[in-house]
Amino acid sequence: MALHVEHRAMPPYAYPVGPTTLRVVLRSGRGQLRSVTAVYADRYAPFEEGETAPLELAGSDALYDYFTGELTLRPPRFHYAFLLDDGVRRHWLSETGLSAAMPMGGFFTYPYINEADLHHVPDWLVDGIVYQVFPDRFANGNPANDPPGVRPWSDQRPTARSFYGGDLEGIIAKLPHLEELGVTVLYLTPIFASPSNHKYDTTDYYRIDPHFGDEETLRELVRQCHARGIRVVLDAVFNHCGFEFFAFRDVRERGQESPYTRWFHVEEFPVKEQSQPNYETFATGIAAMPKLRTGNPEVRDYLLNVARYWIEQCDIDGWRLDVANEVDHAFWRELRRAVHGVKPDAAIVGEVWHDALPWLLGDQFDGVTNYPLREACLDFFARGRTRADGFAQALVRNLFAYPRQALLGCWNLLGSHDTERFMTACGGDGRKAALAAVFLFTWVGVPLIYYGDEIGMKGGADPDCRRPMTWERDPSAGWNEDLFQLYKRLTRLRRAIVALRRGDARILHADPVANTLAYWRGFKSRHTPGSGPGHGGGTAGLAEHGVVVVINNSSRARAVPLPGPVLEAAMRLTVLVDGESGTATGREATCPPGPVEVPAYSAVLLTLA
Ligand code: CA
Repeated sequence: MALHVEHRAMPPYAYPVGPTTLRVVLRSGRGQLRSVTAVYADRYAPFEEGETAPLELAGSDALYDYFTGELTLRPPRFHYAFLLDDGVRRHWLSETGLSAAMPMGGFFTYPYINEADLHHVPDWLVDGIVYQVFPDRFANGNPANDPPGVRPWSDQRPTARSFYGGDLEGIIAKLPHLEELGVTVLYLTPIFASPSNHKYDTTDYYRIDPHFGDEETLRELVRQCHARGIRVVLDAVFNHCGFEFFAFRDVRERGQESPYTRWFHVEEFPVKEQSQPNYETFATGIAAMPKLRTGNPEVRDYLLNVARYWIEQCDIDGWRLDVANEVDHAFWRELRRAVHGVKPDAAIVGEVWHDALPWLLGDQFDGVTNYPLREACLDFFARGRTRADGFAQALVRNLFAYPRQALLGCWNLLGSHDTERFMTACGGDGRKAALAAVFLFTWVGVPLIYYGDEIGMKGGADPDCRRPMTWERDPSAGWNEDLFQLYKRLTRLRRAIVALRRGDARILHADPVANTLAYWRGFKSRHTPGSGPGHGGGTAGLAEHGVVVVINNSSRARAVPLPGPVLEAAMRLTVLVDGESGTATGREATCPPGPVEVPAYSAVLLTLA
């Protein structure tokens, strides 16, 4: 069989992780290679005098093995090739392809790591836990500002047009809930003036919607969040505006005479919105959301000023960018510069539902909404469409899709205002929702809790997923106290264990029959000769530098075998979820060598005793 190997000297196969360190990834056909070694040198020095770095088999999906390693040079200008061993013979891989002999030229080249090109993701984002609020549905702190015709809070059947009266004062009043839960970032879906309940059709980017409050209310919310160690991220809807946005209104009223015709994509004048709009909109035919021409410098400057304004005026900490994948890259690069100009550690996270590499190269977003990971969680935990091996493969594919620092900034979510709630996808089975929560808080990337998921709220697709928050702490009202206690423990666990926030990840075990999964999160000592497992993905000493999570996603107790060296030392086992007793527990035990006993629908954490 022909050898299948892939590498290019660019992301996601090569990217800097520090001023002198280049991380490289080589992808090869699954099971084809025994080992991979990088040979590298200063690109102005003779290659044959270069250094070697063994790559580690860091994961596999259905098609590929992923080998990774780090190359360090000062000055940081690299040329390199790989020495591959397929078990029969050795091959060299360079930019020109495979050869039996050491190549004399055509090396992979990463010319220089410039500090300016390093992707700095804010620490508070990497270490963060996000809580997403849909303001009309979270808490009504001021009935005096309610829109007309609000529904009673107890009505759990929202329609696309219903209002409930939630507002910023309500969020302020409920900050103790966020603090008790243990989140560190509050993300609000749009709050600027708009006729809808979701406010994704902005009328005025410079005005807080009067049903939510005003600029002073937002300032107070941010102040109180900051006092509790919580950052605030707002939703920037820059792909499109609302029907009543001043520029679009002018185009509607004045047609071709309007100075704003080039702010939109109008096919012909006069503008008409009936039956089929004759201008481009968000999605198809949504007349209330005309698409903005962000390539127009006037539009760009207007929106960049909006992005700066709310940071300067109210001290918000970042932006989540709506429909980020349909706005031009040049605009996002400008936005990054503009935002960092007023707040250097502000976070920028884009809404992208698919492979988002073009936005995660360091010049645009810090992370994206990780919907592909959500799909994998749905299939494994909720729908039972994949077994542990398929889930592990999806995780590995996601792990190597982006540069590592961008992956650490991605928002991992089980649900949002645009999706069915996870508990509903689980058919109301709290054990499955609990296991998925454990995964969310122990995997790579920033966990995002959609308001109410922490207490097991239910809801189908939009608008049903936007029910008013349940505040009555009573099971008969739909409040799942076990789940809430689990979420509280998980936020604290993640805040306490740095390996869960920043560590690498390796799948240790994925059994499709038993449906059990184990993975490691942690750090390895770098550049210690002979310390890397290198060959065949060994796991020696992993437990010394991190933690191990074991999940039993089956209806029977399982004895989960872990690779021998993982448990070479005495381990402390913490039961995160006990599906058999139906409760979340924090029970601890010493873990003897040998298989780890995990009850049905349960998860345990292993740490060095
Ligand atoms: Ca209100």
